[in-house]
Amino acid sequence: MSVNMVDAAAIKAAISPLDFYRTELPGIPAPKRDHGWTAGGLCCFHADAHAGNFRVNLDTGGFMCFACGAKGADVIAFVQRRHAVAFRDALQMLVDAWGTRL
Ligand SMILES: [Zn+2]
Repeated sequence: MSVNMVDAAAIKAAISPLDFYRTELPGIPAPKRDHGWTAGGLCCFHADAHAGNFRVNLDTGGFMCFACGAKGADVIAFVQRRHAVAFRDALQMLVDAWGTRL
């Protein structure tokens, strides 16, 4: 599937933030609830030594780190930052990884 056929909103709607972060962050603790901000385990954007700084939002896919300042509004922003790719490349990576869900 090409990113020309789907838009960012459809991609975000098709990907569960919890499923996404469980895949991207193998060390993520089991969330205490199924929505809103929750602990994300160790931050993948700096040499994090103790959990607690990095949080993810299970509703929006947003992420933020109190230690290094990494933050973004959704899973697309996470892919952009983690893989240092442009917006459209991040969309393509998400389609490739999660395409069966679209
Ligand atoms: Zn960090």
